[in-house]
Amino acid sequence: MLIRLKSSATQHQYRELLDYLEREGYEVKKYSTDESVCLSILKDAASLDADDVRAFDAVEEVVDSRPPYRRASRALKPEDTVVDVGGVPIGGERTRIIAGPCSVEDEGQMHRIATHLGGKGVFILRGGAYKPRTSPYAFQGLGEKGLKLLRGAADSQGMRVVSEVPAAELIERLDHYVDMYQVGARNMHNTHLLKALGRTNKPVLIKRAPSATIEEWLLAAEYVLAGGNPSVVLVERGIRSFARHVRYTLDVSAIPIIKELSHLPVLVDPSHAAGRRRLVPPLAQAALAAGADGLLIEVHDKPSLARSDGAQSLDFDGFDELHAALQSLAAVLGRPLD
Ligand code: PEP
Ligand code: MN
Repeated sequence: MLIRLKSSATQHQYRELLDYLEREGYEVKKYSTDESVCLSILKDAASLDADDVRAFDAVEEVVDSRPPYRRASRALKPEDTVVDVGGVPIGGERTRIIAGPCSVEDEGQMHRIATHLGGKGVFILRGGAYKPRTSPYAFQGLGEKGLKLLRGAADSQGMRVVSEVPAAELIERLDHYVDMYQVGARNMHNTHLLKALGRTNKPVLIKRAPSATIEEWLLAAEYVLAGGNPSVVLVERGIRSFARHVRYTLDVSAIPIIKELSHLPVLVDPSHAAGRRRLVPPLAQAALAAGADGLLIEVHDKPSLARSDGAQSLDFDGFDELHAALQSLAAVLGRPLD
């Protein structure tokens, strides 16, 4: 961080700034050029907020080229991260699909869906047991019973499991059943949960909150990485915009931007963005074409009977058709799909 001082700064204003920086433990070097006086922070300044420095009367300009998300940044780690989900990689040479119902509902449903998806070469099964519903009157999920059904169905097909963890207090309970934790869009800002997941040793999938900037999303990942857990997967699932023709607006541009700024894998969830099943295939294809490492797709054996998100869930025929189209596309893109 470089701080350029105002030429009009008084000795008192300068002293005030210097005292602050020293009190916070930063070592400062002073430079003078013909035009101005600058201070450069020598020590790791990750915790120093440029806006706090700008607020001092002596300061003309702060130049801060470091991204605030250090560990998530490509500057720190140029090569792509491949996240290992119980032996199944996300990122790297192949395109990955995670699929399954929005909510775990009963044993038969989970068994039918896992059998179909497992037969198609899908290695990671999704399903919510703790559902963060907008309305408190909507189906809230089966809780631990749902986790058991999800695990049982996945095991019968040799699949891995991802499910949402809604609170830090539930991590231990989920740990018995899942291979990867999902942080829901509504929980992306829950720093208490993110910190707790940083202390676990399983991968964490972080959905982008509907109004989060790219920087806020990467800082959510940074919480997990800073806690010592290196396995984070980002998921773009649509953001809130003025548009009313879809549930959320899929931010396709976020994919190449994340690839530029970060080494972490990025998946796209076209289902929650679309809100309607016929929009899922075009959004899924756009996502892969834009460089996504894979997709998170809601699939149900009888979408019209689903207890949540039926309108956006693909039935088996719909999934099979999309899967075939994605296989052709992924082959053209040079990142084959199983
Ligand atoms: C889900 O995956 O079912 C879900 C609730 O997603 P989101 O957190 O993106 O709304
Ligand atoms: Mn859902």
